[in-house]
Amino acid sequence: MQTELDKKIWLSSPHMGGAEQIYVDNAFATNWIAPLGPNVNGFEEDIEKYIGSNINAACLSSGTGAIHLALELLGVGLGDEVLCQSFTFAASANPITYLGAKPIFIDSEQETWNISPELLEKAIIDRINLGKKPKAIIAVHLYGMPYKIDEITAISRKYDIPVIEDSAEALGSVYEGVRCGSFGDISILSFNGNKIITTSGGGALLSKDKLITEKAVFLATQARDNAPHYQHSHIGYNYRMSNVLAGIGRGQMEVLPERVNARKSNFMFYKENLSSISELSFLEDPKGSSSNRWLTCVLTSSFESRERIRVALDNENIESRPLWKPMHLQPIFKNAASYTNGISEDLFKKGLCLPSGSNLEQEDLERICNIIKRNFDD
Ligand SMILES: *Cc1c(COP(=O)(O)O)cnc(C)c1O
Repeated sequence: MQTELDKKIWLSSPHMGGAEQIYVDNAFATNWIAPLGPNVNGFEEDIEKYIGSNINAACLSSGTGAIHLALELLGVGLGDEVLCQSFTFAASANPITYLGAKPIFIDSEQETWNISPELLEKAIIDRINLGKKPKAIIAVHLYGMPYKIDEITAISRKYDIPVIEDSAEALGSVYEGVRCGSFGDISILSFNGNKIITTSGGGALLSKDKLITEKAVFLATQARDNAPHYQHSHIGYNYRMSNVLAGIGRGQMEVLPERVNARKSNFMFYKENLSSISELSFLEDPKGSSSNRWLTCVLTSSFESRERIRVALDNENIESRPLWKPMHLQPIFKNAASYTNGISEDLFKKGLCLPSGSNLEQEDLERICNIIKRNFDD
């Protein structure tokens, strides 16, 4: 029998608000069991209202699909080079290869853990000198922390290379009063099961340019030309979001502000309760930034120390996870070019994501902190 003591605690689990079921039932009641319908339109409007900045949204079947379409819409094709933050989840980089293009990985800076403006500019100059100007930049707000938006945007304008803003982990994060998801030439969101809100699986492509989101919907629905028969002048995809799942999304949008607050409170709790341990540290919001704290990350002083905490938590049925392994260290990308400074490799060695769900109870957080503290007593 499972007692309270060994109840499984997940890293980040879905957290329904209640209204999701009503929207899903409505899809059934009206027979909109299809990858289009009122919930898809309604969810897109909810996202546009929430992000602001006159953004347009196209709901898709995944964040990965959204990055794939973003790259295609920016004209990335066979043999092109795309600059991509190395410290990220593989889904940021994989779609580059779907198009026969090559990822060039860029390491991080210390202040936000995201793409380093210095290395990015160095890479651009180097690639241009080597004879090929990169086609796009993929920058990521990792764990919800906004990247150096002013610096990255300035470099993008200086060299006229568009930015894909990977906001998969950053719905609800804010930079200088403006919501993440509105800073890229094209931006993307994810509603996968572990994200800040979820549709079980899903994503969105965002742009201030309505032509871009219209083209995304066109490509996502098999690129059908305007004709009474089915006619195609482009290769299309089947990437649109289901109207059933969009119903979950509409319900989740009603509780998104609460979910962001709960994640931020988790971070505050960990910081306050673990700050007595001198070897542990947390990434603070730089001035002007407010991370949604999708996952709370703690930095230890060594690989051994990080593993000690991870294994101790695992032994008590608590899921934690090392920070993302940088793409330039992944076996599949061993032949990709990269511009590195050791920062993401060090973060990967020493950092751990702690359970961060918006549905964690106070007693769960206390249990986690007590186990971690116990490991630093001796
Ligand atoms: C989750 C995630 C994605 C991919 O989104 P899916 O909806 O799971 O396909 C892309 N980039 C980052 C940084 C993510 O965390």
